Amino acid sequence: MSNSVNAPKTRPKVIVVGAGPAGSSFALTLARRTDAEVLLLDKSSYPRVKVCGSGLSPHALEVLKDMELLERFAPRHGEIKGLIARGPSRKDVVVRGGGKGAWVVPRVEFDHTLCREAMMQGVEMRENVKVIDVLENEKGVCGVKTVDEEIEADLVVFANGSPSRFSDETRPRTGIRTIMGWWQDTHLPREEAIMAWDERLEGYYAWSFPELDGTVNVGLTIPEEADAAKQLKALFQDILDQHFGLGLKDAEQIGKWMGHPATVTTRIGNLGDHRRIFIGEAARLVSPGTVEGISFAMESGVLAAELVARHFDRATGFSTLGQRKYKRALQTSMVPKFLAGEAFVRVMNSRLGRRVGAALFGGPVNQFMSRAVVTVLGEKNARA
Ligand SMILES: Cc1cc2nc3c(=O)[nH]c(=O)nc-3n(C[C@H](O)[C@H](O)[C@H](O)COP(=O)(O)OP(=O)(O)OC[C@H]3O[C@@H](n4cnc5c(N)ncnc54)[C@H](O)[C@@H]3O)c2cc1C
Repeated sequence: MSNSVNAPKTRPKVIVVGAGPAGSSFALTLARRTDAEVLLLDKSSYPRVKVCGSGLSPHALEVLKDMELLERFAPRHGEIKGLIARGPSRKDVVVRGGGKGAWVVPRVEFDHTLCREAMMQGVEMRENVKVIDVLENEKGVCGVKTVDEEIEADLVVFANGSPSRFSDETRPRTGIRTIMGWWQDTHLPREEAIMAWDERLEGYYAWSFPELDGTVNVGLTIPEEADAAKQLKALFQDILDQHFGLGLKDAEQIGKWMGHPATVTTRIGNLGDHRRIFIGEAARLVSPGTVEGISFAMESGVLAAELVARHFDRATGFSTLGQRKYKRALQTSMVPKFLAGEAFVRVMNSRLGRRVGAALFGGPVNQFMSRAVVTVLGEKNARA
C-alpha cells in the first residue's frame, strides 16, 4: 500500500463486511502486512452458530498452516481419519486417509478464534452491525451504510457469504439447499465421516461428521431444483431414518435442524473492481460436489489481502494488475478442483453413473471409487 509508510495520518481505511473465514483471513493478513486501518463488520455477535458441517479438508489445514494458525486449533478438534462412502447400492466403501486426515472444528469456535486473531493483530471488529447498502462517489464504492450510520472507506471487501446481496454476479450458478442438525451420545463413528450419495440428492450427499466431546453433525445437500428439495424436512427425516437411523438410536438432538443456501459454480467471475473486492462465498468460491468452502474462503482472503498490500493506492484503488493477479490466482488454484467436483456430481447423478456407481461401491473395483471420493474431497496422498 503506497500510503502505508511514514504517513500514519493518511492510513488507508479498509472495511471488511463479514467475519467468517474469508473476512477474518483477509483482515488478519492485511493487518499483518500493512498499517492499514482495518474495520471488520458482522451482523452477528460472536461466538455465533454457523450452519456448516465444520469439516476442515486437508487443503484447509494447509491454508491454516501457512497462516501460522494450525496450532491454535490443534488442542480442540474432531478428527476424520477415514470415510465411509455409501453409494446407490447402499453398500459401503471404507476409505482410509493416507496420513493427512481432515479435522472438524465447530464453526462457533473456529470463526470466533479466527476473528479474535485478527483483532489481536490490530483489526477493529464491530459486531451486531448489519451493512444494508454501499456508498458510492465518482471513484466507485467509497464506504458502507449500516442500519445506524454511514462509514467511509478507501476499499470495501465483501465477505458476507451466500447469497451476497452486494454482488451483481451474472455467471451461471447452481443453488444448493441444505439442512442439518447436531446430536450427542450417538452410535455413529467417532473418527470417521459417513457420506451417503442417496439417489434423491441428485449427485449430492448426506453426511455425518464427528465434532468434539461426542457431538456429531448430520446433514444433507441437494440442488435446489431437485424434486425432493421441495419437501426438505420430510426428505431429511427419511434420510436420517434410512442412513443414520441405527447410529442415532437413543441419541440426544441438540437444538433444532437448521438450513442455509449455498451457491456453487465452476467459473471465477466478478471479483470486484478498484474499490471493492469479493472473497469467499460472496464470490461463490464453493466446490460443486462437496460444498466445501472454508478452505477457499480463507485462501481467497489471504490472496486478496497480499495483493492489496502490494497493489493498492489510496488515490487510484486496487490496481488493474492486482485485480488480474487475484483472478488468475483463483482460477489456477480453484477451478480444477471445482471442475473435478462437478464431474463427480454428474457421474453420481447419471443413470449410467448410478448403475456403475452401484457396481463400484459394491464390487471388486471399489478402489477406483475410493480414489474418486478421495480426489474430490481434496486428499492428495490417500490410499484405499
Ligand atoms: C450446511 C452446510 C454445510 C457445509 N459444510 C462445509 C464443510 O463441512 N466444510 C467446508 O469447507 N465448507 C462447508 N460449507 C461451506 C462453508 O460453510 C462456506 O463456504 C463458508 O462458510 C464460506 O465462508 P465465508 O467467510 O465466505 O462466508 P460465511 O462463513 O457465510 O460468513 C459470512 C459472514 O458475513 C456476515 N454477514 C452477512 N451479511 C452481512 C451484512 N449485510 N452485514 C454484516 N455482516 C454480514 C454473516 O453474519 C457471516 O458471519 C457448508 C455450507 C453449508 C450451507
